[in-house]
Amino acid sequence: MFASKAKRRISIATKFNLLTILIILVTSAGISFFLVHNVVSYKYNSLVRHGLVIASMASQTSEYYIYTGDTESMMQLIESLEVDEDVAYVCLFNKEKKQLMHKSFKYGLKIPPAPVTRFIDCSPQGKILYKEFFNKENGNRYIDILSPVIIFADKKPTDILVDNQKGINPEIAGYVQVGLSLENLHKRIKQFLISALAFTSFFIMVGVILTLFLTKRITAPLKKLNSATKNISEGIFEQHVNVHTNDEISDFAGAFNHMVERLRVYRDQLRHTAFHDPLTNLPNRNLFMERLERLIEHAKRDKNCAFSVLFLDLDRFKVVNDSLGHLAGDKLLVLIAQKLEECLRKSDTVARFGGDEFAILLDNVDDDFNAKFVAERILEILKDPFVLDGHRIVVSASIGIVLKGEFYNRPEDILRDADTTMYRAKMNGKARYAVFNTEMHASAMNFLQLEADLWHAIERSELVIYYQPIVSLTRDEIVGLESLIRWQHPQRGLILPDEFIPLAEETRMIDKIGHWVIQKACAQNKVWHDMGFSNITITVNVSVLQLRHRELPDQVRATIKSTGLPAGAFKLEITESTVMESRELVLEIFKELNDMKIQLMMDDFGIGFSSIHSLKNLPFSTLKIDRSLISDIAMNPDASAIVKAIIDMARSLKIKVIAEGVETQRQLELLRLYQCDYIQGYLFYSPMKAEEITNILRQRNKPASDTNSDITREFITLWGEN
Ligand code: C2E
Ligand code: CA
Ligand code: CA
Repeated sequence: MFASKAKRRISIATKFNLLTILIILVTSAGISFFLVHNVVSYKYNSLVRHGLVIASMASQTSEYYIYTGDTESMMQLIESLEVDEDVAYVCLFNKEKKQLMHKSFKYGLKIPPAPVTRFIDCSPQGKILYKEFFNKENGNRYIDILSPVIIFADKKPTDILVDNQKGINPEIAGYVQVGLSLENLHKRIKQFLISALAFTSFFIMVGVILTLFLTKRITAPLKKLNSATKNISEGIFEQHVNVHTNDEISDFAGAFNHMVERLRVYRDQLRHTAFHDPLTNLPNRNLFMERLERLIEHAKRDKNCAFSVLFLDLDRFKVVNDSLGHLAGDKLLVLIAQKLEECLRKSDTVARFGGDEFAILLDNVDDDFNAKFVAERILEILKDPFVLDGHRIVVSASIGIVLKGEFYNRPEDILRDADTTMYRAKMNGKARYAVFNTEMHASAMNFLQLEADLWHAIERSELVIYYQPIVSLTRDEIVGLESLIRWQHPQRGLILPDEFIPLAEETRMIDKIGHWVIQKACAQNKVWHDMGFSNITITVNVSVLQLRHRELPDQVRATIKSTGLPAGAFKLEITESTVMESRELVLEIFKELNDMKIQLMMDDFGIGFSSIHSLKNLPFSTLKIDRSLISDIAMNPDASAIVKAIIDMARSLKIKVIAEGVETQRQLELLRLYQCDYIQGYLFYSPMKAEEITNILRQRNKPASDTNSDITREFITLWGEN
């Protein structure tokens, strides 16, 4: 829009120069014109006056000679006028206007036959007339002057000369004609004009030089300021405008420099904020990525460039936040950031990516200083407890390492692989590091594909529930069924929950899937109840995230209502580690579920560190001893001692015990010996589809006469109620 209107750019200096030169020209032209005009007219007038004086003197002198007819004296008079270089010719006439004599002083100049001025205009009062004319023959201009020769009737001409008295009755005795040449005048004017021109040129030259000098003094600093402003608009703040003119421009430059200085400070602050984590003041993800990208580029050019990337995630940092509060969590992060920096060289970068995630970039790695060495050092220094508000806190971290960053093309890829590897370290048991290999990448890709498929699994009815019977040792009957989800993947076949439940948890699909399991399991148990197996309690595993997202109680309430299953025939299994991590949350959820008469079971008991005390204060009716302990009891006396202790303790607290993962007869014998209440495991039954369970129930369980059978009640007895 502006381009069409854009005029040709004229710089300030050009405008300023043009204006000043114009002023100088106009002034000098005005002055010269005025001078020339005055001088020329003055010279012309003085020449005319000069001619008039000559003519008047000649007419007075010749008065007597004309009167007496003395031609010789007349000639002498005429010749005496030759000395005046302006006089070109002289003529004398008698009163009858007849030429008496004449003389031309210019070579070849013809005297006009009659005076240019007319005789008739000459009066006896002595009026002298003149007129300028152009002589075509020699191309010169002349002034022709005609002066009357006056005599007085009452006096002789000599008397007039002697006593100088004013005569009376004048009359014309003749005429004197004098021709003045303008040649000399023209020459003189020409000379004057030349010197005037030279003077004016000199004046203009001086003016122009002065203007240029002045312009330079005014516009040079402006130019400097202009280019400095352009630089700023392009983001170049590292500059200083040097102007020392002792005037407003100098003030302007000073203010400008000050402004640039402040802008620079703001820019640096802004840059710092944009590239640093406000809590720890470490570089943030953006800066890390920028440096990583630069290093990748460098590695492409320099084959000796070797660098590694570490991705670090604190283990169970959430516990610190939840138990000591976010402020303490923040303080801990700052302390950890300091410790990480201590482990590195100045040239390395440690960045915080947010939360409890850190990334480290090691440049110039070699045999001595390499990623594994740094990871070991970090794990080692983290072992020292941190003291926070009087609490001693031990943190650990899981670290993923990409050893050869130089083989990558994109920073995101390095980070992705370091992240994947960090997960591997976590899965391998936390507080350790893992080094990336390509197999990990494949499994990560697999994970992504699986995630995409999982979104559709429910709609496509690919999810199925298997049920694993729980047998009562005292009644020798199936009293419960654990719901275990599986995914019938169209390409990959049956996928077990350990493979996709973590994925569902990460993507929040767990709420939807968990809800589906609750609905399915409850409906299925209602079917079995209706078949007469009303002593069967169904259990459903819930993830800690389902508890956190708070949708669980409503989901259970709605399902119990819609299926019509008695609340006592449904239980939730919560792992010991979930209980330990989120005690408050479990208590809250328990209260809500308790109102609906739904009970909780502690799953995978014995591998966490629940104290007897905490168990006593938690509202669990049943606990399930973890498979790993059960599998050891036949061989490991410690394991069997622990299992026995757990069973004894539970009995004293009136909590029922299930042993899971029972695979051998020997294990069963021991558990029977320890008076374990219920058994679950391959020894009796593997998880099976609902139809198979129906067949087994028909063979093994007698349909109960009423829904409140002893066994069911025994199984669901709430600790403390009896
Ligand atoms: P879990 O709660 O500990 O479930 C018991 C697991 O042990 C099941 O594995 C079961 O098949 C297996 N098992 C049973 N008896 C034996 C035995 O004698 N020997 C051995 N070696 N294993 C036995 P599964 O079905 O693969 O489930 C794995 C885990 O997935 C479960 O561990 C549970 O934590 C989780 N899970 C299963 N279904 C769901 C669900 O619907 N929601 C949630 N949130 N988690 C689920
Ligand atoms: Ca379970
Ligand atoms: Ca278990």
